[in-house]
Amino acid sequence: MNIREQVCLSAYNSFGLKAKARFFASVSHEQEIQQALAFAHKQRLPVRILGGGSNLLLAADINALVLHIQSRGLRIILNNNERVLIEAVAGEPWHDFVQWTLAQNAYGLENLSLIPGSVGAAPIQNIGAYGVELKDHCHSLDALNLASGQVQRFSAEECRFAYRDSLFKQQPGRWLILRVRFALSQKPQLQLNYGDIRARLVDLNIENPTPEDISRVICAIRQEKLPNPAELGNAGSFFKNPIISAEQAEQLKQQYPKLSAWPQPDGQIKLAAAWLIEQAGWKGYRTGHVGVHQAQALVLVNYGGASGGELLQLAHRIQQDIKDKFNVLLEIEPTIW
Ligand SMILES: Cc1cc2nc3c(=O)[nH]c(=O)nc-3n(C[C@H](O)[C@H](O)[C@H](O)COP(=O)(O)OP(=O)(O)OC[C@H]3O[C@@H](n4cnc5c(N)ncnc54)[C@H](O)[C@@H]3O)c2cc1C
Repeated sequence: MNIREQVCLSAYNSFGLKAKARFFASVSHEQEIQQALAFAHKQRLPVRILGGGSNLLLAADINALVLHIQSRGLRIILNNNERVLIEAVAGEPWHDFVQWTLAQNAYGLENLSLIPGSVGAAPIQNIGAYGVELKDHCHSLDALNLASGQVQRFSAEECRFAYRDSLFKQQPGRWLILRVRFALSQKPQLQLNYGDIRARLVDLNIENPTPEDISRVICAIRQEKLPNPAELGNAGSFFKNPIISAEQAEQLKQQYPKLSAWPQPDGQIKLAAAWLIEQAGWKGYRTGHVGVHQAQALVLVNYGGASGGELLQLAHRIQQDIKDKFNVLLEIEPTIW
């Protein structure tokens, strides 16, 4: 294993930010992970875990050992005709993994097609899209406790998944997820009630869609709607959709009858952060090297040469404005280093 010093991370984060890692190691096996951790321990350095870098904002140089997780492996643990239990190792690219599950006739993850990043990062914020979240199909996972060096198994319940949240997001720097197990099904249970899925299927004259059709349709919608980080630096949605009380939502609704809002099972109301940002006039705004995407108010972009600080400054201005206008707090979604 090669540990390099002063490595620029611009190629390792989807914003294309140029922060440097004091030490950097790509690790493909658990043995390499252990060696790298021993190095960090000896140097008294903190460790930062890097997957695909698609949910990160690098605000400054990183005085740590950055471990780039490249471990691979996919296996079917159990297939009893209906239920399929699959294990994926952390460094597997998420979208390729989803495509592989479809090729095994193991269904459930099709709505999560084309989300960038790695399998190991997917539980961190309980990735979600088009009405499905990772928690709906996560069976269990193994994580290495970075302080004790012990591997611990977590059931899905123990992961404390919530909207773009988990135990691991709440305890940054404590866990390295090694592998994740998914409970999938050979019998498709399609989720079509979100976004433009149904309309697209009608356009394509698909009456009885398969999970593969859903995956293709979602890939097409995402490619049209979201900027490609290879062309325009971004980290997908920059803010979480805020959740407020039913009472406050009712007051806002009186003021803004077109307010985009979804009732939650616990009685609270989730608002569309994109709607709030657009309503406040930020969509398409640009300052210096950064801006709010022209077509997606939730996506902050690096037009080239931006620093993490510039992005954060813009984010804070938007947060303040939304607080002033709607009395709603927008929470930043990506992890800030
Ligand atoms: C264009 C675009 C679209 C997106 N769309 C969606 C979407 O629809 N839904 C959604 O939920 N997200 C979306 N995202 C965000 C992102 O793709 C996900 O959060 C993804 O899971 C991040 O994976 P990653 O490997 O890139 O993680 P990274 O950015 O490398 O890391 C993110 C966090 O996870 C930690 N981490 C990474 N790997 C591990 C590991 N093995 N063990 C412990 N901690 C780890 C890191 O330390 C960091 O805190 C989008 C991003 C982009 C750029």
